[in-house]
Amino acid sequence: ANVPHSSKSSPDRAARGRLIVVSGPSGVGKSTVVSALAERHAFFFSISATTRAARPGETNGVEYFFLNPDAFERMRERGELLEWAEYSTHLYGTPRTPVLERVAAGDDVLLDIEVMGAMQVKGSYPEAITLFLTPPTVAELERRLRNRGDTSPADIDRRLAIAQWQLEVAEERFDHIVVNDSVEAAVERILRILEAPSTKADDDSPPH
Ligand code: ADP
Ligand code: 5GP
Repeated sequence: ANVPHSSKSSPDRAARGRLIVVSGPSGVGKSTVVSALAERHAFFFSISATTRAARPGETNGVEYFFLNPDAFERMRERGELLEWAEYSTHLYGTPRTPVLERVAAGDDVLLDIEVMGAMQVKGSYPEAITLFLTPPTVAELERRLRNRGDTSPADIDRRLAIAQWQLEVAEERFDHIVVNDSVEAAVERILRILEAPSTKADDDSPPH
């Protein structure tokens, strides 16, 4: 129903936050760039659920909620995931409620997710801003992934094979391609995108 307060010009209706999706091949620097971006732009980081094991230095509830496959499957069956995907033998998904609550409260929410999940979000939430981080070269991507030193050689090979496909489809499927040559330059590019008038929060968008 059309209630007066849903009018765009209504001053007492708070603007919704934006859904910012950062994707890109493993090792391109998504975590690094997102951490640096957090110093410059306020957003709520969506903590995903995953069935992969925690890496050294990762804490349950900080980088991810580390779940066994049964627990992940229960979340999925109950419709508690905004999107989910299988990636390099493991399951990853975005808990729905925290994201929608934060957006409704007016906060920007940032998702660091792979390409299939990013497309699911864009499909169900077209006003999401989708960014694809790309490496300066494929050789540099491989160097970064190997130098990180926390991924097994077999997993690195799988991730590089997936990267090849992701790099091929990125141009046509994402709103913005951002080169991560230097972290500072990539952050500046993202800030410019977020500050552009066309990506400003639109308080006239329908609630989800
Ligand atoms: P992702 O989250 O995309 O898998 P990470 O943020 O873990 O990638 O980065 C992968 C590796 O590349 C890390 O060792 C990180 O320090 C390094 N890295 C990230 N961005 C850059 C950059 N612009 N230049 C050089 N190395 C980078
Ligand atoms: P990693 O195992 O290196 O932390 O992440 C592997 C890939 O899974 C990355 O591309 C990361 O962005 C993606 N990922 C992390 N969380 C999610 C999620 O909730 N959903 C989807 N679809 N991908 C995710």
